[in-house]
Amino acid sequence: MLAVRAYCYNKHGLKLGQREARVWGRAANSLTAKIRDFLLNRKVFYPAENGAEETVEKLVKWSPEYLYGYTSLILEAAQIAQKKGLKPRGVKAVICTAESILPAQKKFIAEVFGAPVLEEYGSTEFDVIAFECTSGHLHLVNPWLWVEVEEGAALVTDVVRVSQNLIRYQLGDSIGIINSGCGELGSPWTIDELRGRTIQQFAYINPDQKFHAVVFGRALNAYMDQTGDCFKFTISQTDYGEFGVYVSKTPSLGREGLETFLKSDLQSRLLLREHFKIRVEIYEGGMGEGKHTYFIQNL
Ligand SMILES: [Zn+2]
Repeated sequence: MLAVRAYCYNKHGLKLGQREARVWGRAANSLTAKIRDFLLNRKVFYPAENGAEETVEKLVKWSPEYLYGYTSLILEAAQIAQKKGLKPRGVKAVICTAESILPAQKKFIAEVFGAPVLEEYGSTEFDVIAFECTSGHLHLVNPWLWVEVEEGAALVTDVVRVSQNLIRYQLGDSIGIINSGCGELGSPWTIDELRGRTIQQFAYINPDQKFHAVVFGRALNAYMDQTGDCFKFTISQTDYGEFGVYVSKTPSLGREGLETFLKSDLQSRLLLREHFKIRVEIYEGGMGEGKHTYFIQNL
């Protein structure tokens, strides 16, 4: 697993053991954790809740060679750094893992940290499964794993460990795989779209009409592209045709402006004629620890 990680990093001019700022949940306050972080030349930063601004100042001052962590927390750190006019120097790359990221968010993070943003797709069991090349493909990179897609769901088989190679492990993620023809990193087979957890995939207009929640991501990306805004968001469905959009800061077009934009964008993307409601709400500083979910199905 470490060899795969080292291979991906080397391809981007990074090395394991370089100064790593790990943008993660709160660091464990134990001696073991401290020794481990010291030996791995990394420091854990948790830029949320109380003291987030101070944490980001510390992060920038520590001058990491790369950042690694949860997309939503890295985005949080980037927003604070921009707001406070901090200018991170010497960052070679920002590696986002565990959560999907929109192109507009990626662009924003890259600008703030002055470094390319690379996506990683992995799991606790297998570590890195796919990693981004400089052309933006998410390549399958672990030669000891067999990755397949069945009914839109990712299945991973460890073909080396004898005790494991009969088990097709269902990760619970919805993905698509295509042959990119690109030979830059790992296999030419790449994940063309990471659609999130299989369990939280569909939004319903009515009991018969549903659409994939990834459409919300595309609509919000279009909004951010057009306005230059960048924020985190969560969409929650509580009733048929009713969606709550929670955003981390006031959109530049205002709450109603964003509502109108999303409504007309979804209508034209989905060719919808049915009635549906979108309510935008602003929550500031509401980021919890752990993974951030974009779409919550609460029907
Ligand atoms: Zn590629």
